[in-house]
Amino acid sequence: MKQGRLIVLSGPSGVGKSTVVAEVMRRRPNLRFSVSVTTRAMRPGEVDGENYYFITRERFDELLARNALLEHAEYVGNCYGTPEQPINEMLSKGIDVLLDIEPCGALQVRERRPDAILIFMAAPSFAELERRLSARGDTPEQVVRERLERASWEYEQAARYDYVVVNDEVAHAAGEVEAILVAEGCRTAFRGEVLQATAAR
Ligand code: ADP
Ligand code: 5GP
Repeated sequence: MKQGRLIVLSGPSGVGKSTVVAEVMRRRPNLRFSVSVTTRAMRPGEVDGENYYFITRERFDELLARNALLEHAEYVGNCYGTPEQPINEMLSKGIDVLLDIEPCGALQVRERRPDAILIFMAAPSFAELERRLSARGDTPEQVVRERLERASWEYEQAARYDYVVVNDEVAHAAGEVEAILVAEGCRTAFRGEVLQATAAR
């Protein structure tokens, strides 16, 4: 059976990753979101087990010690990580899996799964990024500043990704992510069966 594909999406906090991911998931039924674990506090409206698994630092360290995380990173004072087993299960069923993770984690995934597709999401401008992050209204001013500082470093990592999508408008950005997935599915390496079945005898 054909394996699913691992798609990694990164970008600065507030750029619109969650918003665009929701739209891409709506458009592509064969895509599942990888639910990360995090030690950060839940935001209003977030659902445990849907946006994240919200866990303690002790539990996080336990998962690390058990080698249960595909990648992990510290981001502005909190720990985040990707549970590996659910991903392996989905990929082996031919389901594509989307990870919304920051660049340290993305580069760990690249090391361990060289065939992962890495997409970086940029904002139309830094001022717009600042506006979106503040407008979300669920992040204290000091944390907004720390996240913006981190964003400068994150932009420097973009050159290490396979693709860059600009989130000017949600529908447009989701369309670009979809276009990447469609093009990746047309890679010659994935088309062996089609070629075999359709080649002239
Ligand atoms: P992230 O997941 O990258 O931290 P969010 O998806 O939470 O970002 O988006 C941050 C804020 O920006 C939210 O208030 C969201 O509604 C808004 N937003 C997202 N994409 C756009 C866009 N293309 N244009 C304007 N606002 C956007
Ligand atoms: P937030 O706290 O705003 O949900 O996420 C902060 C940052 O952590 C974002 O850049 C997000 O992509 C990243 N992130 C979320 N889950 C993971 C994860 O499992 N691993 C890593 N490395 N980063 C993550």
